[in-house]
Amino acid sequence: MAEITEQQILDTLKCVPDPERKQDIVSLGMVQGLRVKDGHVALALEVEPQRGPKLEPLRKQVEQLIHRLPGVLTATVVLTAQRQPAPAAAQGPASRAGGGQAPRQAAPELLAEVKAIIAVASGKGGVGKSTTAVNLALAFARLGQRTGLLDADVYGPSVRRLLGITGNPSSRDGQKLDPMERYGIKAMSMAFLVEEDTPIVWRGPMVQSALEQMMRDVAWGPLDVVVVDMPPGTGDTQLTMAQRVPLAGAVIVSTPQDIALIDARKGLNMFRKVDVPVLGLIENMSYFCCPNCGHRTEIFGHGGARREAAAMGLDFLGEIPLDIVIRETSDGGHPIVAADPDGEHAKAYLAIAERLVAKLDHAIAERTAAAPRIVIQ
Ligand code: ADP
Repeated sequence: MAEITEQQILDTLKCVPDPERKQDIVSLGMVQGLRVKDGHVALALEVEPQRGPKLEPLRKQVEQLIHRLPGVLTATVVLTAQRQPAPAAAQGPASRAGGGQAPRQAAPELLAEVKAIIAVASGKGGVGKSTTAVNLALAFARLGQRTGLLDADVYGPSVRRLLGITGNPSSRDGQKLDPMERYGIKAMSMAFLVEEDTPIVWRGPMVQSALEQMMRDVAWGPLDVVVVDMPPGTGDTQLTMAQRVPLAGAVIVSTPQDIALIDARKGLNMFRKVDVPVLGLIENMSYFCCPNCGHRTEIFGHGGARREAAAMGLDFLGEIPLDIVIRETSDGGHPIVAADPDGEHAKAYLAIAERLVAKLDHAIAERTAAAPRIVIQ
């Protein structure tokens, strides 16, 4: 079948009027960022922020229309707002576990059936943030927690590869997408909806919209914990996500070198700025484990991260060695906590997950106490 073209999609959308303005959505310039690749179509409908909720039926209509066109395999349509939402400065701490306050925005609460949402973040890419997020999620599941994993790194989603998930999500009720399931956890990633090698030029509002849809339009069901693999860095988009997702807390992943370069500090300050409690620091690639003899080499010296964490007023959650088996298992879609659940490395992730569960339980127990601020120990 011939590949569908952008022009064919635009021609079709010229027949769709904006319900309030009686002109078609193409002439009004609402269709943005149209991408077509191998039958996968993605676009954004740019709307004024206040009209966003009303235009959900239009978004669905456009998605269905494109989906019905011959040669289209998947259609992803997101609403984008021209203006960023108001900063969260005037809003209280959104931590469900931490503060028990109202959600940060007036829109319906996202992930309302989830007890605690934990962001896994890093100051920069390549430090093993996604590897840590996935193994932590698996460790939570092993501790008996009903666990979800949300890949918020829409620029470079890696959860599909790390969990070895193939196929695409379906919908049992025709309303919401069911998350994919693997190794006892539920997972959602843009990579399940858009082909991984499709280059999408994401813009700030599109990212927000995509993330919101992965929470609002996915049947997560009741869960104890959702681990969010955040995008690396401290850009505006990342900051906005930290504001809009009702996070119980953030975990910062860093390598020993980056702690020295204070990249982690930037990430830390970002969360503090938006009143998200930082649950602690995980040192990844902490020491080198020789694959032949098991000898441990402290390449960057020992204890530096723990000291740095203490200096920053942060809890040190644990250290994970640099070991080729961690790379091979996660890059092979079979992360170490699933591949070798009783091994040393799995135990390290389990110990960190246990500490986090205890911290969250503690926060929930304190919810009724009228603490004006969350104190980071
Ligand atoms: P990030 O999410 O920070 O960009 P990734 O989790 O994608 O980083 O990891 C980057 C690379 O480092 C991957 O190939 C991963 O397998 C590898 N890696 C991560 N943590 C470890 C570790 N502790 N030991 C060995 N390799 C690791």
